[in-house]
Amino acid sequence: MTRWDEKQARLRAFLTRGAVGDLTVALLRSLAKMSPCIFCKIIQGESPGAILYRDEQATAFHDAHPAAPVHILIVPNRHIVSVNELEPGDEPLIGRLFSVARQLAQQEGIQESGYRLIVNTGAHGGQTVPHLHLHLIGGQRMRHPMG
Ligand code: 5GP
Ligand code: ZN
Repeated sequence: MTRWDEKQARLRAFLTRGAVGDLTVALLRSLAKMSPCIFCKIIQGESPGAILYRDEQATAFHDAHPAAPVHILIVPNRHIVSVNELEPGDEPLIGRLFSVARQLAQQEGIQESGYRLIVNTGAHGGQTVPHLHLHLIGGQRMRHPMG
């Protein structure tokens, strides 16, 4: 172990134990809360990106890294982290997300050719943005198998 490694290990021990550890965790938590969600910023118009659809419950915009000729994200306007955070009262909202997807599929001319709707959830689901979103993907034949 080099002197630098030793210093780092001592610092890590200091920051993670006892009262200082509790303080570090609290600080990291409040920093995480302060850091704005990228999808909330898009919904609020604070981040550039063409809004394709917006109503009082949902917003849709192009995915920044499209996986197919059509790749749109449909999101609730309220910050909901994932499917895991949904409540029974959110059932009409989920219906709205699907209706918007159907509407946009028609608008994009892929309703007849077909498309895929995906909701990734958590680490194993491959979710990278912690704001619930429905991927609408189409414009080419989708590959199989999934998973
Ligand atoms: P996930 O992997 O969480 O299911 O999907 C997140 C999606 O958000 C990815 O397809 C990624 O390309 C897209 N994405 C990440 N950051 C941004 C952004 O800043 N703007 C837009 N429009 N899409 C983003
Ligand atoms: Zn958000």
